[in-house]
Amino acid sequence: MGYWIANAVDADDVPISIFIEGACIARIVRGESVDVDNDGIDAQGWLLAPGLIDVHTHMRDPGYTHKEDVRSGAQAAARGGFTTIACMPNTQPPLDDVAVLHALQERIDREACVRVLPYACMTRGSHGVQLTDFAALRRAGAFAFTDDGVGVQSAARMFEAMQRAAMLGVSIVAHCEDESLAMPKERAITQGAYAQKHGHMGIPNVSEAVHVARDVLLAEATGVHYHVCHVSTAQSVDVIRQAKARGVRVSAEVCPHHLLLCEDDIPDVWDNNWKMNPPLRSRADVDALIAGVTDGTIDCFATDHAPHTEAEKARSMIDSPFGIVGLETAFPLLYTHFVRTGIWTLPFLLARWTRVPAALFDLPFGVLEEGCFADVALIDTRETRTIDPQTFASKGRNTPFSGWACQGWPVATIVGGRVVWARDGGVRGGER
Ligand SMILES: [Zn+2]
Repeated sequence: MGYWIANAVDADDVPISIFIEGACIARIVRGESVDVDNDGIDAQGWLLAPGLIDVHTHMRDPGYTHKEDVRSGAQAAARGGFTTIACMPNTQPPLDDVAVLHALQERIDREACVRVLPYACMTRGSHGVQLTDFAALRRAGAFAFTDDGVGVQSAARMFEAMQRAAMLGVSIVAHCEDESLAMPKERAITQGAYAQKHGHMGIPNVSEAVHVARDVLLAEATGVHYHVCHVSTAQSVDVIRQAKARGVRVSAEVCPHHLLLCEDDIPDVWDNNWKMNPPLRSRADVDALIAGVTDGTIDCFATDHAPHTEAEKARSMIDSPFGIVGLETAFPLLYTHFVRTGIWTLPFLLARWTRVPAALFDLPFGVLEEGCFADVALIDTRETRTIDPQTFASKGRNTPFSGWACQGWPVATIVGGRVVWARDGGVRGGER
């Protein structure tokens, strides 16, 4: 028993067919064509990639399921070519408690069509005061520890958390923001040209970089693996580059929107689909982020998929929540703007969505090898389509990329050998 996914190409444009048996890849044939029987999938020259991995998403489950839940969020992931996503713990109740984590795991097992790995809070309620029970939460399946959504204001708390995490061999993941510099509850955009022109208070770059600098020193002292969320500034890139040169176990992610948009792109008539935290920075910051990816300072991509309802995003600039959705547009956006333009190669781009995040967080996914899990994305790199939020599987429609024409769209997603999503039902076989 088993089935072929035949006549695809790999990232190097070499013909590839794989035979899937149970949850795993049993055989890989490169460089020659394979006859597809009735049960097989004829991949017609589509790209066969390891399933994409996103270590930064918000499933909003429990508590905010009007925005998203594990079912809709996982469906959005599958449509984006993602087979593994990690979800942030700023839910209601927050994921700071073993019982809450267990209940979410049960919903994931029942309802999610891709692998969903929940983070646990670093501090109770992410209030930054009292550390959670790391050992118990880790035993209950916590992917890593973070207070994402807010910065950890106390250096002492962060230091203690890193010491505990180092002992357990688990990662600390941080949203870097010093609130004494940023005041994110009263500000919506970066401190820069747009804010000045329109008379708004802005969030300065240094509020992020100060935390990155503090935390890499603490990580160096504790030996923990420390991962920086959604890097957005040139200064943060510099700090991480220097820390890596010293041998600190620091890694970093960057979001597609921070690589593709800057404050100059924000429309004069403000729209909250341009409000995210960290905010869109300057053109110089974007250039530094791209350079940081190119030289390896920034390790991987992540979407920070942050769904909100239209009503929430229709509030005033200050009252509307931060965040945009990203799972269903991430690959086509980066493929179009970085691979088609020749800035990065396809293998380089793919590694930062697959093998690299898997290695950072010790996940047994992200590669195409015999004996490995059959977590696979089939992507039509020839197809051009326009981003239309109304077609999203996510409950969130909040994106500034509506109307962008992109090339390179996922057509089918396979998790553990099972076809969990196929566009227009257009893929035969594998439904078992
Ligand atoms: Zn964040």
